[in-house]
Amino acid sequence: MKFNKLRLNGFKSFVDPTELVIAEGLTGVVGPNGCGKSNLLEALRWVMGENRPKAMRGGGMEDVIFAGTTKRPARNFAEVALVIDNAERLAPAAFNDQDNLEIVRRITRDIGSAYKVGTKEVRARDVQMLFADASTGAHSPALVRQGQISELINAKPKARRRILEEAAGISGLYQRRHEAELK
Ligand code: ATP
Ligand code: MG
Repeated sequence: MKFNKLRLNGFKSFVDPTELVIAEGLTGVVGPNGCGKSNLLEALRWVMGENRPKAMRGGGMEDVIFAGTTKRPARNFAEVALVIDNAERLAPAAFNDQDNLEIVRRITRDIGSAYKVGTKEVRARDVQMLFADASTGAHSPALVRQGQISELINAKPKARRRILEEAAGISGLYQRRHEAELK
């Protein structure tokens, strides 16, 4: 799956609308400490349906909303849009009529998250599945968090197994099996 564009508005440090064009080939993001490089990767994960606050380095999901500074008031919502190339029509049939597909997630304080694919309102699960079926997504092993490598090296065997299972994407399988056993 090819990503074309990432747009942020009120997400973490990106208080002003920001557009990142993801060109063909390799994209590098450089900048001083604290300028928001990791926040960009988190925005990508988040729009694909990440729902664990810890993966967003926060205590709760609303922590992704711009929290304000001494000069600027906090925002009430955060929005991230991801434009994907759908020329090969890899998206599920319901969304599959366009060359470019826009996935939007917005979180509003005290209300929570809402998702859209194109103009259709969808559930978190629909977005998660859209990316899972294309073998990418918030839990994709292709996304390596800062510090994850040293975590892996320093972890005790049990914790290391958990990290590897998460990277291999099989922690979701345990969850599905657990759900199936309950039914
Ligand atoms: P490093 O090079 O150290 O890894 P980085 O470029 O990856 O830095 P990030 O971790 O992406 O930087 O950005 C951290 C910045 O984002 C901090 O200044 C932090 O205050 C800010 N930030 C995080 N969450 C919010 C929020 N909800 N509202 C406003 N600012 C936020
Ligand atoms: Mg960083």
